[in-house]
Amino acid sequence: MSKVYFVGAGPGDPELITIKGRKLLDNADVIIYAGSLVNPALLDGLNAEIYDSSKMNLDEIMDTIKSSINAGKTLVRLHTGDTSLYSAISEQIDKLREINVEYEVIPGVSSAMAGAAMLGQELTIPEISQTVIMTRIEGKTPMPDNEKLSEMAKHGTTMVLFLSVGLIEKVAEELKSGYREDTPVVIIYKATWSDQKIIRGTLKNIVGIVKDNDIGKTALIYVGEALKASEGYTGKHSKLYDRDFKHGYRN
Ligand code: SAH
Repeated sequence: MSKVYFVGAGPGDPELITIKGRKLLDNADVIIYAGSLVNPALLDGLNAEIYDSSKMNLDEIMDTIKSSINAGKTLVRLHTGDTSLYSAISEQIDKLREINVEYEVIPGVSSAMAGAAMLGQELTIPEISQTVIMTRIEGKTPMPDNEKLSEMAKHGTTMVLFLSVGLIEKVAEELKSGYREDTPVVIIYKATWSDQKIIRGTLKNIVGIVKDNDIGKTALIYVGEALKASEGYTGKHSKLYDRDFKHGYRN
């Protein structure tokens, strides 16, 4: 019986898909892709039947999946970035379980990781932050009470916000309950796309900078002291490569 493959397309640059994902796309009979964010260049030259999920509701997506599987076709459901973050694969998987259709998930490069790479940024800097909170501001999707941004901010970790730049005023306001006003904030619009934009500021001035640059969607917000590393020197180094630090591979 044929299977549904959920594939992470990566952040935009068509070369940032896994080899496994690329092979599945090349051999798929049917592809349903998230047209709002997946780079259509990934689909160039393919002979598959192609559907854009940004124009479909869940029932329409599931009907397309079911009819393809019943016809013995191989189907790729292509999601942006990685499949584990804000992808809505779960609701599709629930429906596949109900009808006993097999599936497999192939991860992708999340925009959160790609954006850090574009900055040349390590998100975990010794003694500054060893934790990354990946989250979003509350929008139409309600947040659990213990995950309000103002609560998360109290940890002072490196933070990456998805789906939030459109509400930048609210984001800045809530973050100020945990971070100092001079904390670095970096916004990356369309990381790895040809029209990528990177803007830097602090919690104090970021709202104005985002408005001046007219960025309302498809951007990530990076927050935290650790972001200073991609601006210049933090003076903090890891123990791993320290001359005096012995470990299993070097003694
Ligand atoms: N699964 C995806 C996230 C999907 S949610 C991933 O792992 O990247 C959609 C949000 O992701 C967007 O609102 C934006 O915040 C972020 N995003 C996706 N692609 C992006 C890119 N190339 N550059 C910046 N942000 C991106």
